[in-house]
Amino acid sequence: MADEIAKAQVAKPSGDTIFGKIVRKEIAVKFVYEDDKCVAFPDASPQAPTHILVVPKKPIIRLSEAEEDDSALLGHLMIVAKNCAKEAGLSKGYRIVINDGPEGGQSVYHIHIHVLGGRAMAWPPG
Ligand code: 5GP
Repeated sequence: MADEIAKAQVAKPSGDTIFGKIVRKEIAVKFVYEDDKCVAFPDASPQAPTHILVVPKKPIIRLSEAEEDDSALLGHLMIVAKNCAKEAGLSKGYRIVINDGPEGGQSVYHIHIHVLGGRAMAWPPG
């Protein structure tokens, strides 16, 4: 976890990211879901028994740079996130997270939704 915070402090927005390579299938990742707008796959460093990332094919850098025109896409990502949670059997609930920027803990500058579940979540988050 401390490692992720350290990564977020030094991560810089750049033209392409590891998620760009994943959505373009330049890196082989087993998707749990895919459609024409997004993909979903397990986080490589899971922070809960279920930890899925929902990533749009459009490389929006971060939530704070999303535009009005992205409203339908962002809504779609939320629906895909809740469908992935259901598919993963998270009937007792789960947490949806979008980290934005260095203080938000963002380390990959291609917007994504975290779906975390399979254990009780703490509040406030660290
Ligand atoms: P962020 O810190 O930007 O909100 O989340 C980035 C997430 O991407 C982290 O949870 C990290 O473990 C995950 N991640 C980084 N690189 C890869 C990768 O190559 N494959 C997968 N599956 N997850 C990754």
